[in-house]
Amino acid sequence: MSDNNIDMNTVWQQDKDHYIHPWTDFSTFKESGSMVLADSDNVHVKDGDGNSYLDGIGGLWCVNIGYAREEMAQAIADQVRQIPYYSCFGHHTTVPAAQLAAKLAELAPGNLNHVFYGCGGSVANDTAVRMIHFYFNQLGKKTKKKIISRIDGYHGSTYMAMSITGVKFDHIGFDIEEQLVHHISCPNPYRRPDEQSLEAFCDEKVQELEDKILELGPDNVAAFFAEPILGAGGVIVPPEGYHQKTLAVCRKYGVLYVSDEVVTAFGRLGHMFASEDEFGIVPDIITCAKGLTSGYLPLGATIISEDMYEVISKPQADGALFTHGFTYSGHPVSCAAGVKNIEIMERENLCGHVKDMGAYFEEQVKSLIDLPIVGDVRGRKFMMCIENVANKETKELINPDAKVGNRIADHCQKRGLIVRPLAHMNVLSPPLTLSKENVDFLVATLRESIEATMADLQNEGFLTAEAAA
Ligand code: PLP
Repeated sequence: MSDNNIDMNTVWQQDKDHYIHPWTDFSTFKESGSMVLADSDNVHVKDGDGNSYLDGIGGLWCVNIGYAREEMAQAIADQVRQIPYYSCFGHHTTVPAAQLAAKLAELAPGNLNHVFYGCGGSVANDTAVRMIHFYFNQLGKKTKKKIISRIDGYHGSTYMAMSITGVKFDHIGFDIEEQLVHHISCPNPYRRPDEQSLEAFCDEKVQELEDKILELGPDNVAAFFAEPILGAGGVIVPPEGYHQKTLAVCRKYGVLYVSDEVVTAFGRLGHMFASEDEFGIVPDIITCAKGLTSGYLPLGATIISEDMYEVISKPQADGALFTHGFTYSGHPVSCAAGVKNIEIMERENLCGHVKDMGAYFEEQVKSLIDLPIVGDVRGRKFMMCIENVANKETKELINPDAKVGNRIADHCQKRGLIVRPLAHMNVLSPPLTLSKENVDFLVATLRESIEATMADLQNEGFLTAEAAA
């Protein structure tokens, strides 16, 4: 429940005057400020004026078990009362940090049995890089340091994670690391040449990875970073077999495979981890965050194999310690939230619900393909994206000045639904507790909003009558 004594206009003003928001277009922010979210319940959030919205994006791909669970509040409060903090440096731990690590080892595929904690996905990926470098140093392979990732892959916003990120728009105006990090192209089937088969497209992308390893030199390449489904780059599902084939290339050259499951883990695709259960691969490292606590508290994890742990935990030749860690590594309250979150997911069989309701959601969202500007609807289960285009045949984009993704999101918001604009696309990643009624409302509202946007675009000359027909 929100506190009724708080004046929301004052909050709005304080925010506008003092809070530097992440990922924000300051030119519009300085005019309009922010929507204040003040209350929530399961799949709905409320703004400061009490208007309710179905949250089609689960906060930011993370509120998997739904909002405002009393049980979560209790588990968090209990841990605060018991012991709210202790450092895990060296030889100290807390009950939830140990329990959650054991649970993650049980759930993760293969022999990924060792867990390092940070505060989110970016840090989980930065940690993976530092561990990989330390690992190869330990093995005496000191040149093996380079990282390969994909255009349109998203891996976070710390310096290294953003360098590994391949969304070119995200790099504008910033510097990134260019010695260690190298990008290959995105396995986006929608944007492949018309005449190319999916199999040929897949083989071409896999070959590109092998070529890049050979170009940089296998002795210099340490790891390949890949999301099972590229999320923030536009929910791109690589062609069938891509994951297994890229893993085989990595194995051939002794390159470690890092599966960035920051979005795909903890139920979004109907599995606790998607790497093996959905895509048939056991990577060397899985990074995760978001759904690990369903966003109730910040927490990320880097889960590594027995083989890697064996190497990094050996006595260090030159006396080096594993000098990596954060004050809040293994924070007991965040870990308690993680333990309770997973307990709820298992007890309520949320993965089973995603397999059923997520399949219905996927089918319903895909029905929007009949709309004249919807060029592609892709994704799986509760991770979907709609790509809007000016011409379905040529896949030509609508003029970026039309801000089509934002317009659709605005129309949705007026109708009580939050969807995420991503340039000319809209992304959907709702809480996993969505009911059939919620799915039907979401899809009907999206349809209405896309139709309203088409009318706007036509009125303003961004779309011809023919294109909107
Ligand atoms: N990796 C992926 C695949 C993500 O989608 C994100 C965030 O959206 C991150 C890493 C970064 O996570 P965080 O924002 O928690 O640092």
